[in-house]
Amino acid sequence: MKVGFVGLGRMGAHMARNLVQAGHDVKVYDVRPEAIEVLVELGATAASSVVDVAGGSEFVFTSLPGPAEVTETWQGDDGLLAHLEPGAVGIDLSTVGADTSRAVEAEAREHGRRYMDAPVSGGVGGADAGTLSLMVGGSEEDFEEAFPVLSAIGDSEKIYRCGDIGAGSVTKLVNNLIGMTTNVVIAEAFSMGVKAGVSANTLLDVVTASSGNSATLAQWKSSVLQRDFTPGFMLALGHKDARLAIELAEQLDIPMPVTSVARDRLAAALSEGWGEDAVAVVARLQEREADTLIDGRSS
Ligand code: NAD
Repeated sequence: MKVGFVGLGRMGAHMARNLVQAGHDVKVYDVRPEAIEVLVELGATAASSVVDVAGGSEFVFTSLPGPAEVTETWQGDDGLLAHLEPGAVGIDLSTVGADTSRAVEAEAREHGRRYMDAPVSGGVGGADAGTLSLMVGGSEEDFEEAFPVLSAIGDSEKIYRCGDIGAGSVTKLVNNLIGMTTNVVIAEAFSMGVKAGVSANTLLDVVTASSGNSATLAQWKSSVLQRDFTPGFMLALGHKDARLAIELAEQLDIPMPVTSVARDRLAAALSEGWGEDAVAVVARLQEREADTLIDGRSS
């Protein structure tokens, strides 16, 4: 298939590469020229602009930081929607609110074009391996048509149609608010355990083998315990996701007391200047206040 791809960041570069390796004819664009060059060396074609990506493409993907970039890239005269080929399908892989996905899809319909939200989970490792889970919002027909290209990005057993447009974004926020609040809770729990005299490695091993285990805890082994906060998933993006979840809850008039605390903790970590570190860096706030270090390197 002829595929366009905008946004070659930590996730997008791997996803675009997997599309190339699956045999698709992939045209790529990013505001960072060096990111385009890497993909061209792997067999993709360079596009000169967002508009150029749309030309000739049967499917166009975006993997962008958040709602502002998604809106700017898809909507308006210089956006993808205005230049998609007849019959092409637009697919956004970014994490945004359902309101953003629905607004873009409404404009797509005005242009007589199709658009789905398909946020992903599984981190940079999953993007690299092509084993992401995908949470898709769109019509059954569009989902089935896109399934072969989505399968190049994700594990075909984990590509879910969650409902109509916006349902993928809602599902992704449900998933991520669990991850964001879990980071904050693990920081509390581990600071208590370490200060009470049990080593961080023992806590990690035992909780991993017990009922407190989680995908978030698995990430702590190579991040907090090794004092290595290289992202992965940046704190700034985690804060965005908690904020988007709370905005959705406000629209629905439901309380989110725990997520609100987590959002505030992530915001406090952001204001320390840690936005481009891995989201687990939020542990450093707790360590400072608890006067203890969750360090697994020496025990
Ligand atoms: P990133 O910041 O590494 O990548 C974003 C890319 O978009 C960058 O290459 C940037 O140059 C490019 N970009 C920004 N604005 C642009 C524009 N206007 N036009 C073209 N390119 C533009 O982010 P990431 O970690 O790859 O995440 C991408 C999306 O996937 C986010 O919405 C994030 O929440 C979501 N996500 C990330 C992870 C993860 O583990 N990193 C996991 C699941 C979902």
